[in-house]
Amino acid sequence: MDPIVFKYVPVERIWGGNALCEKFHRDVPMNARIGETWDLSDNGKVNSVVASGKYAGATLRRLIKEHCLEIMGPGWNPDAEFPILVKWLDCEKPISVQVHPTARVAEKYADRVKDECWYVASCGDAGKAEAIVGLKDGVSEEDFKRGAHGAAVLDCLQRVSLSEGDGIFLPTGTVHSIVSPALIYEVQQNSDSAYRVYDWDRVGPDGRSRPLHIDKFLETVEFPVENPVPVRGVENGVICKSRHFTESVRTLSAGRGLSFEACVQPRILTVLSGCVSSGGGAALKAFDTVLLPYAGAFEFIAREESKLIITEDFL
Ligand SMILES: [Zn+2]
Repeated sequence: MDPIVFKYVPVERIWGGNALCEKFHRDVPMNARIGETWDLSDNGKVNSVVASGKYAGATLRRLIKEHCLEIMGPGWNPDAEFPILVKWLDCEKPISVQVHPTARVAEKYADRVKDECWYVASCGDAGKAEAIVGLKDGVSEEDFKRGAHGAAVLDCLQRVSLSEGDGIFLPTGTVHSIVSPALIYEVQQNSDSAYRVYDWDRVGPDGRSRPLHIDKFLETVEFPVENPVPVRGVENGVICKSRHFTESVRTLSAGRGLSFEACVQPRILTVLSGCVSSGGGAALKAFDTVLLPYAGAFEFIAREESKLIITEDFL
């Protein structure tokens, strides 16, 4: 099987901008706040459709059902959803301050856990982006419960400055937000469960604010809180190795190759910058994501200096 390319799906968000279209020339609507593209997804909201090749037009769901062994390898249940969701985020405005449920809370409310990992592909003019990750040192559980209402919650939260090339792994249960403009590559468990505690006092085009879930948010954040630490300026190396996936960056100079043996595991490859080509397939350029099926052996050659992200170990 060849690498599988999917069509990405743009999603409007109250905090989104025009950068994906105007600055990065992705095929998304102009003059709309496109906060996200969903580039690889197998769930009730977006079911990725193959963009080209032998299986063009088929959904990821159907492919897994019909070619489970070739794509996912032995032992995978063909009816199980693909475990990973891949997105690009254009955060022009701050995203809501949120947390994804821990296993305990997810079970209680029939929601799903979500570990996620950000890679900062581009930042605003200052070259830095500010994020909220976890809690400030010394904030007690009491302070937090008292403060977790409206903008006051911001006083309890840790601000982290991120630069291009930084990655950060956010285990489910970690409070997070992106506060200043940034383009983020996001890999996460396939889940859409989030509890918002603060949405920056804004309203949508319909004049309404989005729902908050303060009780569930407070129930999710467990003390003592352990704040994740960013991995700075990754050129070649691991950004995260979690129970649910491993994500690493590879930088190839022009002419260098990267190969994957057949029958080890399925993987996801995304080009962050540059351009790589593989045997018969079309060249892959910045923003392109492909699924590398279990049964295939692949070799990618960099046509120019190229930076790639590999997501694996997700079964
Ligand atoms: Zn999140």
